[in-house]
Amino acid sequence: MTITGLRPGFIPAVELAAQAAAFGRTTGEYMLDLLEVARARAYSPISGFRVGAVVLGASGSLSLGANIEFPGLPLNASVHAEQAALATAWHGGETALAALGVTAAPCGHCRQFLSELSGAADLPVVVAGHRRTTLGGLLPDAFGPADLGLQGGLLTPQHHALALARPSDDPLALAALEAAEAAYAPYSATYAGVAVVADGIVYQGRYAESAAFNPSLSPLQAALVAVAVSLEPFTRIERAVLVETEGPASQRSATEALLAAVAPKASLAYVRAIEGSTP
Ligand SMILES: [Zn+2]
Repeated sequence: MTITGLRPGFIPAVELAAQAAAFGRTTGEYMLDLLEVARARAYSPISGFRVGAVVLGASGSLSLGANIEFPGLPLNASVHAEQAALATAWHGGETALAALGVTAAPCGHCRQFLSELSGAADLPVVVAGHRRTTLGGLLPDAFGPADLGLQGGLLTPQHHALALARPSDDPLALAALEAAEAAYAPYSATYAGVAVVADGIVYQGRYAESAAFNPSLSPLQAALVAVAVSLEPFTRIERAVLVETEGPASQRSATEALLAAVAPKASLAYVRAIEGSTP
């Protein structure tokens, strides 16, 4: 079982600069070139509509994302491309974004999800074939974390001191715990993380809440973003672990339903975490 150090779809700054130079492109040009690479990762068996998104991180990295749809589940289980690209950047270690590029105009759901970022209004947004704008231009008078009295936002590093309620040396449970420790759950304070293994590779997913609640991204959705960006079929997932603290916003039933829909043969373990471990 391998826990890769690098998030699938996450291109570190040095590598991005080298790739752009090799093609004789500026970073900004290359970012838009990669939109089609991102779109090729889309999984949209319901709509047939493929969306690609890329985000440039403040560190100079680039992250890919694409839309993912899940037959057999309600439409609101879908992951949008902008959510996927942001999840890639977050799991890759980015703490701020410099720009977002997307192949189609961001929908209202995504504008709201992106409003969870600190300084969201100033985020430059480039929609392929359109003039550059900002998130604030696309969503004036936005409702975000500051309206609920929060400082910071989705990419602000989180370090919850968690421990498994019953100690385990299962690498998948420990990977899920690591994801839960970095989860962004300021509204419910219910920290959750998932780890899945497919073909020997472990993919982690952190739970990300939205001030508007509905656009929140579940930890399994976040893990499936990495699986999809890797072009690994969901049916190759053999096992999953959900680690969660006790609180009012459990991921348990939604995770069971989503995993059963994408990987019917995969097993899921639910593991309780407790707060207050000493680092
Ligand atoms: Zn959207």
